[in-house]
Amino acid sequence: MRILVSEVGPRDGLQSLKRTMSTDAKLRWIAALAESGLAEIEVGSFVHPKLLPQMADAEAVVAAARRIPGLSVLALAPNMKGVQRAVAAGVHKITIPLSASQKHSIANTRMTCEQAIEEVGRICCFRDGLPGENRPGIEIGISAAFGCSIEGDVPEDRVFEIANRLANLGVDTVGLSDGTGYANPAQVKRMFTRLRHELGERAGGAHLHNTRGQGLANVVAALEAGVTTFDASQGGLGGCPNSPGATGNIVTEDLVYLLESMGLDTGVDLDKLMQARSILAESLPGEILYGHVPDSGVRKGFRYANPNGVRSTALLIAAEACETAA
Ligand code: ZN
Repeated sequence: MRILVSEVGPRDGLQSLKRTMSTDAKLRWIAALAESGLAEIEVGSFVHPKLLPQMADAEAVVAAARRIPGLSVLALAPNMKGVQRAVAAGVHKITIPLSASQKHSIANTRMTCEQAIEEVGRICCFRDGLPGENRPGIEIGISAAFGCSIEGDVPEDRVFEIANRLANLGVDTVGLSDGTGYANPAQVKRMFTRLRHELGERAGGAHLHNTRGQGLANVVAALEAGVTTFDASQGGLGGCPNSPGATGNIVTEDLVYLLESMGLDTGVDLDKLMQARSILAESLPGEILYGHVPDSGVRKGFRYANPNGVRSTALLIAAEACETAA
């Protein structure tokens, strides 16, 4: 079984940092991430550069990422203006931030939930009028779907009312997002089961954070509900500026190891993923990068789910040598 790991570090990760990674370093990092086998990367955000100077080079980054064969290039755009920029830059897919929490929505996008949904309707009309080759996919992961750091509990029925409206407006996939790290596995399994039941093929993936250490447990719960797309960021980079204390996304390296260990094929080579991590570490000296597998290596006898996938073996050999020596 194939699982899509969608790498969000170059957008979700970098935009949460105060400093800016150079365009050159971003391009080397993205190329290395793609080289590891990650088939989809969220490479930037088409937000006004005054609000997010870290993302001011989104056009240049998208143009370079588009030249990587086979890579699905995703970018965030918060409104019509951003969507028009993203389309002009040539993205394959656009993700639009939309929250189930009124206060989080206003804090994050300066729109009420209702205004944000109306904007999505206008965006879908604009997208539908584009010629086929320029028509990007549109996906939304509903923020605060599992709870909000400002409002607390968010009624589940409200999340599904929004999800159904978005699907009816023409959003290609609607997933659920836990940028605050509030989700627990029982809730994740229940909500993704209902999402898939109500939205069918428009049910999207899981965007999970590890703020309270529940990230990978929530992944397993989502797998049990049939989810096959997971966002993650290298080194767990990224939090949420409106969620105080939020530390970051689930770690790509640990997610790939988890999935492969469970016999689920990601197509990702862990050794090459570590090479990408080196570029990230060199480009952001002093930045904390998370991950248990990067610290410990893989277990002795670890095998990828798909034995026919072409992968390097240096990490496996190093881990075995280390354990033999011990
Ligand atoms: Zn995130």
